[in-house]
Amino acid sequence: MTSNSIENNLYARLGIDKPERAQLAVLETENGKVWTYGDLSAMAQSLAQKLLDLGVRLGDRISVQVGKSPEALALYLSCLRIGAVYHPLNTAYSLAELKYFLENAAPRLLICSPENEEPLNALAQACGVEATLTLDIEGNGSLMKDLPPGQTCDPLSVELSTSAALLYSSGTTGRPKGIVLTHQNLASNAEVLVKLWGFSADDVLLHCLPIYHVHGLFVACHCVLMSGASMLWNSAFEANSAMAQLQRASVMMGVPTYYTRLLALPEFNADSCGSMRLFISGSAPLLSSTFAEFEERTGHRILERYGMTETGMSISNPLSGERKAGTVGFPLPGVELRIEDDNGVTVPAGEVGNLLVKGPNVFKEYWGMPEKTAADFTQDGFFKTGDLASIDPECYVAIVGRSKDLIITGGLNVYPKEIELAIDRCEGVLESAVIGLPDDDFGEQVVAVVVPDGTLDSEALERRLRSDMQEILAGFKRPKKYILLDGLPRNAMGKVQKALLRERFASETVITE
Ligand code: AMP
Repeated sequence: MTSNSIENNLYARLGIDKPERAQLAVLETENGKVWTYGDLSAMAQSLAQKLLDLGVRLGDRISVQVGKSPEALALYLSCLRIGAVYHPLNTAYSLAELKYFLENAAPRLLICSPENEEPLNALAQACGVEATLTLDIEGNGSLMKDLPPGQTCDPLSVELSTSAALLYSSGTTGRPKGIVLTHQNLASNAEVLVKLWGFSADDVLLHCLPIYHVHGLFVACHCVLMSGASMLWNSAFEANSAMAQLQRASVMMGVPTYYTRLLALPEFNADSCGSMRLFISGSAPLLSSTFAEFEERTGHRILERYGMTETGMSISNPLSGERKAGTVGFPLPGVELRIEDDNGVTVPAGEVGNLLVKGPNVFKEYWGMPEKTAADFTQDGFFKTGDLASIDPECYVAIVGRSKDLIITGGLNVYPKEIELAIDRCEGVLESAVIGLPDDDFGEQVVAVVVPDGTLDSEALERRLRSDMQEILAGFKRPKKYILLDGLPRNAMGKVQKALLRERFASETVITE
């Protein structure tokens, strides 16, 4: 193998095996355990060999539903190393949800938490998965038993065009779509971001995000690993603990909720930020009021950026230069964007239209859905993001709304159609519409407007809905409130007018769950 081809995949470009880094810290866990790059690289190589021993080959999917641990990060890296396709799953997914993902992704292996082994093993077998292994947050489990010495052979056939990851999103039809990202998609995006946001080996990133999503796994970890920096590795975000750790960090990446929670601490101020150089926000809109209050309290202007699973990061406010509240800044180097009306005609500057993106960051395909992939790209290779945006006279892009009515609660996406389908299957329900209503803490909360079929009284119906949803939906997707109506407002074409529902119930934000 030539040294050129060694550099030709994301694993190599992240540089975790570099001998000069072996003694440098890559992460520190909440209980103070420090992992060096050497430790991470050795673990990734051992796991790579273990996967090979288990029969994993180039292009095989590895589905993973485990808690956040350094070993889980090493597992992701081991998949990159051997050209397996990493398929992370939200830890909150229910069995019913997992069934769909396992059937659709058809992985060779499933790695899960030991406490879920029994039901998931049965499910995996029924879905034709070869083996189920376990990994807990302490790094124990059957995956870690009898780990072989590191994989020594070079990852010969893993090229930039090789698929690296499969992450599921979901469209208006409610059926989650598998998004296939290549080594090239991920590597090119990471390289741009490292430069754009000024990452260096001196950086210490406060990492509190989950690692089953693009934000925590790709954006955060790739920026750190590629630049030889390190991270303070937290299993979740807790405001007091995050504030204390800012004293030792230089960069924080978070969803807007993290920033509102820090601001909710009366003692949070400029001194709390130690020698932080950069606060980055994304995955959901950052309110201008949060941006302003954060600056007033700390002197820091939060850098807001925009991206999605299909594209990684596409647009960012600048590191040096004006960061404008309510905007996501400029297209990343190498990324082209266009704003069009529904007929594909570019809208005049300042007007709102559909946002389209093109660049090496844009995903390869929807897994097993060639027609959907084709439909979401223009003839000249632009991807239709489904978001609405406008560009101001200084060329800053503002994300205006989501054309697909996606709800984002605490930075996590909830697709109304999926919840509606679940509700409509419940006894006593005629039909439903699920909308997002403003929520001070989570940005939005999930609210279900339900039309009863008259077979249950309203109390019994609400009890039924709550218990059914508890069984089949992850907590963050469950409606916080149910509103019973005689009928849904529809337009002349028969489409439910969700904007009217949102307007009508905008003040009904009391959390009743
Ligand atoms: P995901 O695929 O989970 O990363 O979600 C992508 C969606 O999150 C985008 O299509 C946007 O609707 C939304 N999003 C991400 N970042 C921002 C942002 N800074 N402002 C507004 N919406 C955002």
